[in-house]
Amino acid sequence: MAENCNHDCSSCKENCSSRKIEKEPCNKHSNIKHVIGVVSGKGGVGKSLVTSLLAVEMRRRGYTAAILDADVTGPSIPKAFGLHGLCDGDENGILPFITKSGTRIISVNLLLENEKAPVVWRGPIISGTVKQFWTDVVWGDVDYMFIDMPPGTGDVPLTVFQSLPLTGIVIVTSPQELVSLIVSKAVNMASMMNIPVYGIVENFSYFKCPDCGKEHKIFGSGATEAAALEFDLPILSRIPIDPSLAELCDNGKIEDYEGDVLSSAADYIESV
Ligand code: ADP
Repeated sequence: MAENCNHDCSSCKENCSSRKIEKEPCNKHSNIKHVIGVVSGKGGVGKSLVTSLLAVEMRRRGYTAAILDADVTGPSIPKAFGLHGLCDGDENGILPFITKSGTRIISVNLLLENEKAPVVWRGPIISGTVKQFWTDVVWGDVDYMFIDMPPGTGDVPLTVFQSLPLTGIVIVTSPQELVSLIVSKAVNMASMMNIPVYGIVENFSYFKCPDCGKEHKIFGSGATEAAALEFDLPILSRIPIDPSLAELCDNGKIEDYEGDVLSSAADYIESV
């Protein structure tokens, strides 16, 4: 227990045996079976891309899938799916957007009049917004919900970890990051809340030459394997640097992606 414990676990990062974890109940019109947090150490490593592709892959496998965009200050999920406009609501709560292939999505960008306006809110407001995405959105029956977490291990990810009943997390890294440090922080945070870590998805792993087919490890190799070994985690999938993926993602057409870069990660998630 912290020396000056005030018994408010929501703002405390101590790894303490008397931590009280109170999970928020979801909307009474929602029934969500698996809630998977997708985390990263910093922005730009492809966390939103992985979140989007996991949901797309689960839909292809016949499950109902949803994305809760908890990256409130840097929301990129609506852009990846080409969604614009405002969510509807009814007497039961806010209705998520439904994409062309049937993924249900909520994001701050789908609730603001001007999606280009920056979200300059303080931490508690952002955390409260994410909680409301859970409590006030009428998700319906969902097999797999993926949460695009804010990067890092600050206040907002802490609140999300604490208040939403995550069934597991997936860590997204890139080979040029300090992989071991990032994985260690995510693993420690998850273990404080008793949340299982499913494994690591390595993005920007290699570039496959379109002419000769040779794979080049542009950002180096070995660090992800070392971290996986150190923390006894599987490497769920490796995603190459793929300009077509970036183009689809940046043009709102992520559902048209035909590759299967995350199929082994989806196999793992399905098997849990
Ligand atoms: P994060 O959510 O971690 O901030 P994003 O998923 O938004 O990162 O990705 C950042 C940018 O990198 C986006 O423009 C995306 O299209 C691009 N990108 C991500 N992964 C890849 C990849 N494997 N190949 C090419 N571009 C990628």
